[in-house]
Amino acid sequence: MSIRKVAVIGAGTMGTGIACHVANAGVPCLLLDIVPKDLREPEGADHRARSRLAVEALGRAAKGSPSPFMDPRDAERVEAGNLTDDLPRLAECDWIIEAVTEDLAIKRDVFSRIASHRRPGTILSSNTSGISLSLLVDGMSDELRRHFLITHFFNPPRWMYLLEMVRGPDTDPRVYDEIERFATVQLGKGVVECKDTPNFIANRIGIFSMAAACRHMIELDLSVEEVDAIAGPPLGRPKTAVFKLHDLVGIDVALLVLENVRKLIPHDESLAKLEPPEFLTRMVAERLHGRKTGAGFYKKEGRDILVLDLKTFAYRAPAKVEYESLARARKERTTAERIKALVAGDDKAARFAWKDLSETIAYAARLVPEISDDIVSIDRAMRWGFNWELGPFETWDALGVRATADRLRSEGREVPALVQSLLDSGHESFYSVAEVKGERRRTVFAPARRAMDPLEPPRGVILLDDVRVRREPVKSNRAASLWDLGDGVLGVEFHSKMNAISQETLDLLREAVDVAESGGWAGIVVGNQAPNFSAGADLKLLLEAARAGEVDRIDALIRAFHETALRVRYSTRPVVAAIHGLCLGGGCEIPLSCHRIQAAAETSIGLVELGVGLIPAGGGTRELACRIAELSRPDLEIDTWPHLRHAFDAVARGKVSASADEARRLGYLREGDGITMNRQRVIADAKRRVIALAEEGFRPPRPRDRVRIAGRGGLAELRILIDQFLEGGFISEYDAYLAERFAYVLCGGGIDSEHTVSERWLLDLERHVFLELCGQEKTLERIEHMLKTGKPLRN
Ligand code: NAD
Repeated sequence: MSIRKVAVIGAGTMGTGIACHVANAGVPCLLLDIVPKDLREPEGADHRARSRLAVEALGRAAKGSPSPFMDPRDAERVEAGNLTDDLPRLAECDWIIEAVTEDLAIKRDVFSRIASHRRPGTILSSNTSGISLSLLVDGMSDELRRHFLITHFFNPPRWMYLLEMVRGPDTDPRVYDEIERFATVQLGKGVVECKDTPNFIANRIGIFSMAAACRHMIELDLSVEEVDAIAGPPLGRPKTAVFKLHDLVGIDVALLVLENVRKLIPHDESLAKLEPPEFLTRMVAERLHGRKTGAGFYKKEGRDILVLDLKTFAYRAPAKVEYESLARARKERTTAERIKALVAGDDKAARFAWKDLSETIAYAARLVPEISDDIVSIDRAMRWGFNWELGPFETWDALGVRATADRLRSEGREVPALVQSLLDSGHESFYSVAEVKGERRRTVFAPARRAMDPLEPPRGVILLDDVRVRREPVKSNRAASLWDLGDGVLGVEFHSKMNAISQETLDLLREAVDVAESGGWAGIVVGNQAPNFSAGADLKLLLEAARAGEVDRIDALIRAFHETALRVRYSTRPVVAAIHGLCLGGGCEIPLSCHRIQAAAETSIGLVELGVGLIPAGGGTRELACRIAELSRPDLEIDTWPHLRHAFDAVARGKVSASADEARRLGYLREGDGITMNRQRVIADAKRRVIALAEEGFRPPRPRDRVRIAGRGGLAELRILIDQFLEGGFISEYDAYLAERFAYVLCGGGIDSEHTVSERWLLDLERHVFLELCGQEKTLERIEHMLKTGKPLRN
């Protein structure tokens, strides 16, 4: 069984998003919808007109920003069709995904039409958000039931990590396994198996939590903006918090979902808590549906964002949200410490946080074993499907299980049976660490056994959290640690704030190479599992040193960058960078010096130094100059200019890739570099790559002592380009100055192109120009602005 072609039925929000993502995974896909009822006479026989719903949906997708396609060319893999003419083509497909309107009768009709055209053995799944699998399979043949399951994607399918999967009693286990494997490895999803219960896991808890927030807002007389300020990052949740998320989803949809879920769970003892609030009904009646109607809880007016005042039902400017408990929580370092500090306060924000969190985590605890037998699945579903930093049981642990149970009791509230059972069986937390068969492992409470089980990572995944409890680091400092990843492979993990690169990060990287070479290790993976690989060099330190005129300190930092870049490049053991998320500036230069890169499909990589008034000087400009020289082959009449212009353009415009595929087009990923669709598997894939390189008899690259640089000729051409940008008003005077300084280094300092230079020469040029720029006021203003606002200043 293998998935070579997929069909998606229903070209709505979800169907189109899923089809685009299947194409991202390199698999051809057919997207079908109904023939529109309003066809004009001559259109009747025209296949394109009859497939208009899918054609137009794909057209909108291709223009989307951000695009659901990782590479615009992926669009070529999706074919639009219709459910009347193209049904026979379902025989070409190995997996058919139904994503039509959430209506049992419509779905059943679609299944019966599919049944007569699919090949026996073709897998069929439904993307339903809440209809029970037992109802969906009613009337299906035995053979189809064996090949049927629910695959519940989250919106938008390209970015949302969670995929909930539900199997029926008749689903063939091989069918389930094949889709799980395909979804995990090729689509890059985090799969959570759910029981066949209403709304499965994530929406069941997520919807409850949203309804709880609405109720507590009214009870505590809070405003919309206050709730969003508390229930976002301070509670370890995304910035969209409660009401910004409502605006995104659509207020009409949110109300419908709430009404639907109530019908599906008449047995739920919390049913009364899911009563739609009056303001939601009124907003729907007044067409305040959120982003799609231009007004919801928030409304954009000119440059201002206004907020809906629920007392007057009029829009006004949002008030500043200031609470002592919030200020205290913000000072804490981890999410666990933050929420603990927040609920310990006694102002309104603290009371809201306590009510909201305690009700949600108590609800989740009461849903075991109804929605899942294991608590890890519930935590993963909330982290992956709602982007919570902590799942409900991780939240119990963060707040302290016993302390939280005591507080509930003291308020006359019930302690969930699962929590009582944990405490009665002598445990104090849902997760712990224990010795298992002579090895320290993370463990998790198994409700049925009332005992702790080893916590297994998803298949094919190395979690650094597991590595950390198993062993002490081989080496460690404040910014980074060196771990034994097993099988003779070392792992360098950054762990400074935003993984900013400092002297200490660089020290540890060089030491890692020393250890690998002297200790007979196979090689090194440089990677971490923070939200971003690295946002760049430590600008705060740089600014301090520059303002204090400490040129020597800056000089030492750049030299450390260069020594590290060379040490890594010429290491006799392979070094593979495992990158993901943001990989900017210095955080991009380190991977560029590694022998190979293994990038998560969602990687934003770029040399953005010009935005902060600098040039790439951690070996990045040298690397680009050398790559240009390697790509240009005068002997084959392959010219330098296209490569030079391409590399210059990417840096001068501060381009950041929107995916790993785009990073390849920008030249930051090369032929031998790999892309991993599943972000959790990048370190494991990089480790496999290290082992493969070592087993092939890895040889470090040759020294670059005769680099044929673009020289004076190249520099002259780039200067013309810069002048054109400036004259066209596309860049500021200072941008032009910075671009020129970058071009100067990239072209080897403007010496004659007949000459060759060494890699060292290029690194020295980087350093000289960097130091010169650190003395410029406009550069310091740019750095200051970036540190303050997170955005570049074009002064
Ligand atoms: P949608 O309204 O955007 O799209 C539904 C599509 O079904 C439309 O293109 C419509 O033309 C098509 N359709 C209607 N009747 C049909 C028929 N008889 N035969 C074939 N196609 C028909 O809906 P959506 O939001 O994409 O939801 C699709 C499914 O995915 C639903 O089951 C929904 O519950 C589920 N889902 C939605 C989301 C979400 O956030 N929107 C998330 C997860 C799951």
